[in-house]
Amino acid sequence: MRLVLLGPPGAGKGTQAVHIARAYAVPRVATGDIFRDNVSGQTSLGAEAKVYMERGDLVPDDIVIRMVTDRLERDDAVNGFLLDGFPRTVPQAVALEEYLDSVGRPLDVVVRFNVPESDIVRRIVNRRVCPVDNSVYNLDYAPPKVDEVCDLCATPLQHRQDDTEEVVLRRLEEYHAKTEDLEYFYWERGLLRDVESVGPVEEVTRRTLAVLDDLDGDPVQAPS
Ligand code: ADP
Ligand code: AMP
Repeated sequence: MRLVLLGPPGAGKGTQAVHIARAYAVPRVATGDIFRDNVSGQTSLGAEAKVYMERGDLVPDDIVIRMVTDRLERDDAVNGFLLDGFPRTVPQAVALEEYLDSVGRPLDVVVRFNVPESDIVRRIVNRRVCPVDNSVYNLDYAPPKVDEVCDLCATPLQHRQDDTEEVVLRRLEEYHAKTEDLEYFYWERGLLRDVESVGPVEEVTRRTLAVLDDLDGDPVQAPS
């Protein structure tokens, strides 16, 4: 299974990615997580990306594309992968398509997670993440069992620096300006499928797995 998760910040991509990647035994490649690991590891890539991430801007395409194609070369991605947070621009999508075509491993599907725009800020400012296993929580909607501690590995949860109202509004602007075009890009290729990303997390996982089980099912309407 080679799939992309698409959707605005806060749509639930990271939350669902963990379950879907496990169900299909494929690695989850999340560009935001790779950047954050580089920022905390104080690498030169991290230093470069940090400036953009703090503002809520996208990191330049050439940096991201090189990072993802390098990652997809690794052995664990040969039999499939789940991309979370990439591509985010048409040039990134074109580069991904060219790379995958060149290795004879095209995408199978792009799942678009839909969430009401009015839910996004609340989802994001209350998000907490585990820095060790990247599991995602929400103080309002999906709290950890023990206060601010990861259910899986007991590590103290973190509040991402860019999860403020001001920065998320900028990230949303970037989404509408640069990422939304990908809906049409993938619809044209017959790859786009829709999942409503509201309600209990397990319910959204079930809906997503049902869509992935039935890739011959009805494609979505053309994006407006
Ligand atoms: P993305 O990766 O698309 O930015 P996340 O998966 O990190 O989004 O989710 C953003 C926030 O929304 C997190 O705090 C998460 O716990 C919460 N969330 C995810 N799915 C749901 C859902 N179905 N209902 C309510 N909150 C959710
Ligand atoms: P995310 O963890 O997906 O919310 O991404 C956090 C931040 O990392 C974004 O706001 C961008 O600054 C940067 N980023 C992640 N993925 C990409 C990408 N594909 N293209 C450009 N910037 C990205």
